[in-house]
Amino acid sequence: MSNPMIEVEKLHKSFGQNEILKGITLTIEKGEKVVIIGPSGSGKSTLLRCLNYLELPTAGTVKINGEYFVEPGKKYNENHVAKLRTNIGMVFQRFNLFPTMTALENVMAALTKVRQKSTTEARQIATRYLEKVGLADRMNHYPSQLSGGQQQRIAIARSLAMEPEAMLFDEATSALDPELVGEVLNVIRELAEEGMTMVLVTHEMSFAQEVGDRVIFMDDGLIIESGSPDQLFRNPQHDRTKTFLQRLK
Ligand code: ADP
Ligand code: MG
Repeated sequence: MSNPMIEVEKLHKSFGQNEILKGITLTIEKGEKVVIIGPSGSGKSTLLRCLNYLELPTAGTVKINGEYFVEPGKKYNENHVAKLRTNIGMVFQRFNLFPTMTALENVMAALTKVRQKSTTEARQIATRYLEKVGLADRMNHYPSQLSGGQQQRIAIARSLAMEPEAMLFDEATSALDPELVGEVLNVIRELAEEGMTMVLVTHEMSFAQEVGDRVIFMDDGLIIESGSPDQLFRNPQHDRTKTFLQRLK
């Protein structure tokens, strides 16, 4: 049964003369975990940013829960997009926490500003999500007093506190020292087990294999092939996929 959460159709994105996405069509079902792999510069981040309307596509459409972000032929409506965007959380390689705010304040900020929660309610919600990522005892620390892994878990808590219907992870562990990767992957794994719809760009191939329902290989702005982790990693069909996977070994 098809129950799409994110529908991307014939998506193109150019920066100036440079066409970065060259026609991406992709449907992500509710609860599905989709992993995107591919060489650096192939357009993975640009695709994720289009899913969240941090970038406007040059052509094509993105629908979330059957609703267009931007209706074809219609004017971009900032309020409409802002509302839809809160349904999709995004976690980046760089955590972008506010350095002058504690962990708790970082998670509370969007709750009071965007969601118009009272301070009391925002504090309750933020506390709950900091507990969820295992940082109950670090709530009053500033980012500079925390490890990279802890900072990334705060960034995840901050996204989750908005209660998004889907989460996008763009190389969420790539900036971390190797010994800190596991604690962040554990949080993502737990979310996956709870049924969160997710799109993950990652270089952690064993993690991709473990949590992914589907793996997509992108190269040069196009989806070259997609399949189950088993299919894609064990029996890639395209030369470009084979070459990419071989280089990782
Ligand atoms: P990936 O995440 O797969 O490494 P990206 O989507 O980040 O690839 O980038 C693909 C290409 O798009 C790169 O060549 C990058 O320089 C270019 N690009 C990304 N964002 C912008 C931008 N805002 N302006 C101009 N070029 C950009
Ligand atoms: Mg990228």
